[in-house]
Formats: sequence, C-alpha cells, structure tokens
Amino acid sequence: MQGKIQNATSFVESYIHQLPHENHKRRQCFLLFLTGIICCVGGVGWSGAYIYNDKLYLAAICSSVVMLGIYSLYTAFKGLRKRDVSIFCHLILFICIIISLTDYPLVDIPRSSHTYLLVYSIGGVLFLRNESAYFKNVIPLFSLLLYFTFSVSDISFTSEKFHPPVSIMINGVYVNYALCLLLIFGILVIYRSDYTNEKYIEFALTKAMIRKELFVCYQPQIDNNGHIRSAEALLRWKHPTKGFIPPDSFIPVAEASGLIIPLGYWVLEQVCRDMRAMNSHNIDIKVSVNLSPLQLMEPGFTYNAQSILGKELISFKDITLEITESTFLYDKKKLAIIMNDLSKKGVSWSLDDLGSGYASLNVLNEMPFDEVKIDRALLKNGLNNVKNIIIIENVIEMAEKSGMSVVVEGVETEEVAQILFNMGNVILQGFHYSRPLPVDEFITFMKKNHQINVFN
Ligand code: C2E
Ligand code: CA
Ligand code: CA
Repeated sequence: MQGKIQNATSFVESYIHQLPHENHKRRQCFLLFLTGIICCVGGVGWSGAYIYNDKLYLAAICSSVVMLGIYSLYTAFKGLRKRDVSIFCHLILFICIIISLTDYPLVDIPRSSHTYLLVYSIGGVLFLRNESAYFKNVIPLFSLLLYFTFSVSDISFTSEKFHPPVSIMINGVYVNYALCLLLIFGILVIYRSDYTNEKYIEFALTKAMIRKELFVCYQPQIDNNGHIRSAEALLRWKHPTKGFIPPDSFIPVAEASGLIIPLGYWVLEQVCRDMRAMNSHNIDIKVSVNLSPLQLMEPGFTYNAQSILGKELISFKDITLEITESTFLYDKKKLAIIMNDLSKKGVSWSLDDLGSGYASLNVLNEMPFDEVKIDRALLKNGLNNVKNIIIIENVIEMAEKSGMSVVVEGVETEEVAQILFNMGNVILQGFHYSRPLPVDEFITFMKKNHQINVFN
C-alpha cells in the first residue's frame, strides 16, 4: 500500500517537474490536470449510473465528459497552446450547456448541473487572463449569463429520454455541488499561490536591479560560412538564495507590473557597456536585444534609446531589436511610425518566435522587418517532421525573395545544422554552438572561434 502511494506521489512529482517554468502556465497546466481527473472520474461514474438505469442517451452525454477529461489531461501534459485554448473553451461550454439542459428542476429537487457554468466562468476569468478578450471576458460572461438563465428558469430538454431518474437527481444535487465547491476551492488556492508568487517576484526583481543580481548573456549566431555574424543578448537573474531564475518566470511578471520598462532600459545600457568591452578586444558584431511591446510603445522610447547608445558611442546600426507578434496587438499605425523611424536611424528589426504559434507571416509585409527568427518548436525531435521542414524551406525562400535574413534558433545537433545549412542562406543559433555566455566568457569564445567549421 505504502509503495503504491509512493508511486502515485512520484508520478505527480515528475509531472509537476515537467510543467512549464513560467508560473502562470505552470498553474494553468495543473488546473487542467485537476479538471481532467475530476471529469474522467465523474464522467465514468455518471455514465455507469445511467447505463445501470437504462438511460443510454444520458450515458452517451456523460461519456463526452470523459472525453473532455482525457483532452484536459492531454493538454495538461503537452502544454496549453493557442489552438487548444479555443477548442477547450468551446468544448467545455458546449458540454456544460447540454448537461444543464438534461437537468430539469422539480418542486423539491433543485437543478444543480448548471453550477459548472459558474465554476467555468470563475476559472476562465482567473486563468485565461493572458488570452484575448474573447476568451478571458466574453466567454466567461456568456457562461455567467447562462448560469443566471438556468437558475431562474426551467428551460430543459422536453424528451423523457434526456431526463435522469429521480433517484439519481437526488444524489446528483449533492455530487454536483460538492464537485463544484471543490473545483472553486482548487481554482482559488491555485490562483492565490499564482498571485503571491507574482507579487514576490515583482518585489524581488525590483531589489535585484538595485543589488546587481541581473546580468546579460550572449549567444552566438553562425552563418553558412561559419562566421559568428551576431549574438543575442539574453537576460539572466541569479537570486542569492533561490539560485538561477529563468527569464520565462520573471519577464511575464515584469511585463504585467510595468517593471519591464526600467528593466528593458537597464538591459540596453548593459548591452552597450558589454559591446564597448567587446570592441576593446577587436570584436565587432551586431547584438540582438529582445524588446517588450510595452517598452516599444513607451512615449520617448526612441529618444531614450538614442541617449543610452550615445553614452557608450554605440551605433543603432549595430543593434537588432527582436519583437514578437504579440507586439502587434497594440496600435499598428503607431508601431509602424516608431519602427520606420528607428529603421531610418539604422536599427534592424527581427520577428521573433516564428512557428511558435505566436507569430504570423502577415506582419512581415506590413512592418519594416529585416530578419525572421524561426522558433525552436519547429526543430522538435531533430527535424524529423516533414511538415516542419516544408515550413522552414518556405520561410527561407520567402525571406530570400524579400531581402530578409533567417535565423533558426534551438539548433542542438550537427545533423540538424547540416540539414538547415543545406536549405539555403540561414544563420543558426543554439546549444550546438554555444549556450548563452556571460560577456567575459563570450569574449574568450569569440577569440577562440573566429571561424567555426560548419562542414566537418
Ligand atoms: P527567446 O527570445 O526566444 O530566446 C531564445 C531562448 O532559447 C533563450 O532562452 C535561449 O537560452 C534558448 N535557447 C537557445 N538555444 C537553444 C537550444 O539549442 N536549445 C534550447 N532548448 N533552448 C535554446 P532564455 O534565455 O531562457 O530566454 C527565454 C525568453 O525570455 C526569451 O526567449 C525572451 O523571450 C525572454 N527574454 C530573455 N531576455 C530578455 C530581455 O532582455 N528582454 C525581454 N523583453 N525578454 C527577454
Ligand atoms: Ca529572442
Ligand atoms: Ca525566439
């Protein structure tokens, strides 16, 4: 018995260990995991009870809850992607509506299944807060309206086939309310720890900037001739007690709190200082800096960036600014003006994370991009996926025609590097060449590797 409990605990532990680093996503996955277990267990239980009572239509409806549970568990392990959010939100709403319609109120037995709509609305508001307004506001509000409608009316299926037996309805009230309360409690506990954690990170990050716990690392980018053409600047945080904290955990918090603006300027200042240090060792390469949309939209960004670069005598021509498609949720006209202005001053623009589901090719036509960066998601399983190869080939062809360069990130093996170099003019970045290095190690790396043999 003890062994079984230990196995179950280590299964949950290994699951938690695999969850995404970013706290909010981590907790989203954990909530999906809980929902999956409850839907599977509840769905199987209700289906069994309905089969026993010869109510096969209702059993079929409950088996859809099991399917929802399986899908929920699947996304909990795989990670919730944009497409999954849409499928999941509509599916859950549809099933909640159908189940509420089977539950007709009697004089002494109130309706209870519609309470899942209330739970769904609360979960949606709290856990889809990084999604579009449709998912984080419209669907939860619609769900709340439906909850209200079911609470004050007796709307339900009229056919007897869809009516549960009274004996089940009596127990159903207890089970449904108990499960809904359990889910609401789970949602609130997970949200509380999410909120506390974010507040802690926000506070600690403010201190980290003052205490110099932050530093910038550089990851080289290699072209077809084996030249180190450029490097990406990646922020690092070494906390005195918690150790290394990955940027995926603190950048979203900094963005939500507005701290990203001073942090972004700090990164730019540090990059300029580091570039001066590189220049003093005769290392003269372009550096790519990740830019948050909030920073770009901040009034006076161009002026502030210009004075930061001016202080260290760095030219805009030596800087590439990386932005993702999420930037274009902001006013596109205003963005185009800012980007064109900086382009004229010499800045290069790179569209980051193409292929991650967050970037699309449309913006390449509308904005003055000089480079696209293919996300490492497309290199999963060592480029064995034919569809991914076709996407990369098409992006390279399109970029060549429109005079843009292509950077592929996440290159971890020589085999993948060779496949990519054979596709055309590409610049590669990844652990195969080097992990992101602190500036002094990066300078040593550059001195040792003037030329990387890409054809060995
Ligand atoms: P990103 O801009 O997509 O950065 C690339 C990420 O891929 C980096 O993660 C890098 O360490 C990682 N990477 C590079 N090569 C490989 C590889 O071969 N295999 C694997 N598995 N990973 C590889 P990192 O440093 O953890 O940064 C994560 C994200 O945090 C960045 O994604 C970027 O969005 C954000 N970030 C980092 N520094 C800054 C910054 O200064 N400002 C802003 N706004 N965001 C930043
Ligand atoms: Ca980047
Ligand atoms: Ca990227």
